Amino acid sequence: MITRLQDFPRSVYYKPRIRIEQTNQQIHGLVSTNESLNRALAKSDNDKTSLETDLNVEKEFQQRLQKALQNEKDKVLTLQIDIHELNSMKQEYDAYKKEMTKKQNDFEKKFNDQDETIEELALKLEVYIKREHESREKDGIRASGWMKDEDVKECCQCKKEFGALRRKHHCRQCGLIFCEACVSTKLTLSGTNKPVRVCDACCKNVLAQCAVNGP
Ligand SMILES: [Zn+2]
Ligand SMILES: [Zn+2]
Repeated sequence: MITRLQDFPRSVYYKPRIRIEQTNQQIHGLVSTNESLNRALAKSDNDKTSLETDLNVEKEFQQRLQKALQNEKDKVLTLQIDIHELNSMKQEYDAYKKEMTKKQNDFEKKFNDQDETIEELALKLEVYIKREHESREKDGIRASGWMKDEDVKECCQCKKEFGALRRKHHCRQCGLIFCEACVSTKLTLSGTNKPVRVCDACCKNVLAQCAVNGP
């Protein structure tokens, strides 16, 4: 016997339909959620890739910074070594300078002492020369060396021996000793009030001097 649908109580076929619709709605909701989750996942993948790229860039940057920092550290180390060497050099230089200053002071002291001694000697020499000059002026002699009679055996010019017949005569200009023939010229020298004997060489010199300076 076939039972018609109309014959079933209404609740028997109505309830499952509601369940199916509810389930369909739930499925639809789940699909929608799944899609949005997939989109979120894709977005988060993108974000992850982008973050990884950023991270790599950061890492490279950090590596470069570390390298630069290491370079700077090396430079600082080199500079510290240089400073140390310079300090050593400065100490050596200071010691050398100190030694040199001491030597210079010693030298200056010695030099001043010697300078005083030289000044004293120069003063004495000046006084001596002045006296000698005055004494020779008095004698009418310009000679730088007055020859002693006992030192000479022969004429300074013609070389003839002195004896009883050949007497010794001083040239009043140079002080050397000649025979009468070799010192026969007489000239009035400055400081002498009468003509005195001069040798040929001195005669030439005195006349040449007069020609330059005038009489
Ligand atoms: Zn002579
Ligand atoms: Zn002379």
